[in-house]
Amino acid sequence: MLTSGWKSVSMVDVHGKVTFTLWLCGCNLKCPFCHNWRIAEGLDCFQLNKKALLDELKSNAFLIDYFHVTGGEPLMQWMELGSLLAEVRFIDVPVSLNTNLTLVGPLDRLLKAGLVDHVATDLKAPLELYGLPEEPAKMLWRLFLRGLEVVSAHGVPLELRIPVARGFNSWPLVEEGIKRLDTDYYIVLNPIAGKPLTNPRDDEWCSDHCWPEKEIKKLEDRFKALGISVYTNHFTDAAKRFNRKLYK
Ligand code: SF4
Repeated sequence: MLTSGWKSVSMVDVHGKVTFTLWLCGCNLKCPFCHNWRIAEGLDCFQLNKKALLDELKSNAFLIDYFHVTGGEPLMQWMELGSLLAEVRFIDVPVSLNTNLTLVGPLDRLLKAGLVDHVATDLKAPLELYGLPEEPAKMLWRLFLRGLEVVSAHGVPLELRIPVARGFNSWPLVEEGIKRLDTDYYIVLNPIAGKPLTNPRDDEWCSDHCWPEKEIKKLEDRFKALGISVYTNHFTDAAKRFNRKLYK
């Protein structure tokens, strides 16, 4: 299985939880804001040393809430991932999977096997956030909606992350997405940041759409009005000032 590494204790990968986080390589999408694009493209990747990983997980199990698998898109290697998660079950650590939720068949298999306890996903709106032509992006959106239904059908709790871009009204798609949910969930708003905080795949796209401001507030207000739990990750004012110099 191809990985770019793991971090034995992380406080930033699942909201309010301590995780042991593993990054797996490859992805079926081309999101322009992706700051893990090198992992998504399979760059800087190497074969996972499963024994070393499991030994370290065992040693840290008492500290963590989840073994969190992210990427890239972890379900690109779903068969090997399934075998790994079956071994993690013996360590008795809950598993959290961060997936773009478009590889619905593999997701359903892992959920049916009882190998995943928590899912995190990005709701990408508008569809240009998929970084693909219009028709494939529409198909991916339909798969994503199906993915939300599959997570709900298995009753698995969900962290629904919304990468918020500047200059778009994402609400119509956000609303369509949350209507499909019938499981415990909360929202995490992630304002899309550029350099120097992150290293996005497409600098030109980022100059037009990174560093949203009013878009965040509007979404926060909408969720609060609906009584939905919402958390916002804020970037620092200093970083914003730096970026205005870079992009404007
Ligand atoms: S943001 Fe996630 S889904 Fe999009 S290209 Fe990057 S790793 Fe893939």
